[in-house]
Amino acid sequence: MSEIRIQNLQKRFADFTAVRGSSLVLESGKFVVLLGPSGCGKTTTLRMIAGLEYPTGGTITLEDQDVTYLRPRERDIAMVFQLFALYPHMGVRGNLEFPLRNEGVPRAEIDRRVKEVASILRIEHLLDSSVTGLAGGDRQRVALGRAIVRQPKAFLMDEPLGTLDAEFRELMCVELRKLHDRLKTTTVFVTHDQNEAMALADHIVVMNEGEILQADSPHGIYSFPSCLFVAKFIGRPPMNLLNAEAPVVRGDNSVRLARRSIDVPTVDAPAASIVLGIRPEHVRLLGADQGSLGGTIEHVEYFGSHWVAEVRTEAGAIKVLADKSVRPVLQDRVGLSFDTRHIVLFDAATEKLLPSATTRTHTPSMRHG
Ligand code: ATP
Repeated sequence: MSEIRIQNLQKRFADFTAVRGSSLVLESGKFVVLLGPSGCGKTTTLRMIAGLEYPTGGTITLEDQDVTYLRPRERDIAMVFQLFALYPHMGVRGNLEFPLRNEGVPRAEIDRRVKEVASILRIEHLLDSSVTGLAGGDRQRVALGRAIVRQPKAFLMDEPLGTLDAEFRELMCVELRKLHDRLKTTTVFVTHDQNEAMALADHIVVMNEGEILQADSPHGIYSFPSCLFVAKFIGRPPMNLLNAEAPVVRGDNSVRLARRSIDVPTVDAPAASIVLGIRPEHVRLLGADQGSLGGTIEHVEYFGSHWVAEVRTEAGAIKVLADKSVRPVLQDRVGLSFDTRHIVLFDAATEKLLPSATTRTHTPSMRHG
């Protein structure tokens, strides 16, 4: 079991700062996803943990050992880039044995570990096959096997599912997570795909422009986004973000929206102007003249199990997720009500989450600074 700690980690490339003083504790045995848009510093962070890039500031410890400037092979960490990369001139068994032969592991131990890994990944019947004729899923399993056969202290994975089509990606997400539940090896996984992050992670670390914006469970990230960036980045359809009209003071439990008073969780800090956030599944469609706000249905999307309707209101466009028993009709006048328990508020000036009765109920699952 291996905990990874990064403290005030920085990386500058000439005068460009790719990672700005990240601090994080990656708990032993957890599956941690680094998530963020292209160029936010995910890969650079991962490469520093792997030892493929040295930081320009800060430290990295693995199981209490300072590994900041150790070479990759001195860290006992397995890096998985593309799960498809196999040695074509070797068979399946040769690919699985390769990392162990490289490390001088005795023959009997190699045989034992290859057998074990092949059984875990259900590829025993392929051990004597060539890798060139393998189907996509089997190739992926062999590549994964090559990483786990080493029994490293941690796996680092950089968009390993990036080249796969959507259906296969989903399948591999399930396989990876099942494998993790079995092996419980500390894993750091980089992706820009929020669905992948949600499906795989125990903890998600959201980054933007070289900074860690939030580190928490998928539920924490989704329900209590630390700032407007995270609120907009996570969730499809996205969270509704509505500008309220007046300042709030500590103890307030309503805000003004389109000249109406809307109940909100009691606020714990003052703000000159605020943004009200509510997810589409926490807005209810009612008959015209009911609820807190009125509007007109402008767009409807059908998803089989549910609908998403966009309602034009005086406070802006509001997306509503309605179950299939409801049939939103274009141009209908409707009323909307918000489930107060699920409203989050942001300080419009700092764009940060405002403490409230709702956020008080949640403790982030991960430490970062
Ligand atoms: P992507 O998903 O596109 O790879 P990312 O979040 O992984 O994005 P990084 O690859 O970590 O981002 O890059 C962060 C920033 O650092 C980018 O602006 C990138 O151009 C820059 N960068 C990365 N490596 C170097 C380098 N060797 N020299 C100069 N700039 C670099």
